[in-house]
Amino acid sequence: MASSGARCPKCGGQGRLIGENRFLCEQCGTEFYACPICGATFFSPQQLGGHMKYHKREREKSRDPVLDTLQEIVKRLDMLEERLDRIEKTLNSLAAMPRLETSQPTSEELPSFARDNPWLKILSRR
Ligand SMILES: [Zn+2]
Ligand SMILES: [Zn+2]
Repeated sequence: MASSGARCPKCGGQGRLIGENRFLCEQCGTEFYACPICGATFFSPQQLGGHMKYHKREREKSRDPVLDTLQEIVKRLDMLEERLDRIEKTLNSLAAMPRLETSQPTSEELPSFARDNPWLKILSRR
């Protein structure tokens, strides 16, 4: 039990749990409040409240770099995956397209004298 180990901030005596985060010193009778997270002790619940806000901020701050970065990475990976998908689809559709434009010029667009030239056939046979 972590809460039973709270020490009186006034005399250092053993605190007895009497409420939520609330203790009574068995040695000097002082009521005090202890943080359930780090065990820091305070004389008033207001002080503890302010201290707990600090912990909350700390938690949010410390959560950011790890979890949020991971979530950001996952999000970006999803986006990249989508983009890759689209690129793949584009490539596939390009590959499926008849390659009229790229392979034509060599044979079809030669001037007729060259196309019908028997020497060209002979020369290109090697
Ligand atoms: Zn005490
Ligand atoms: Zn604390």
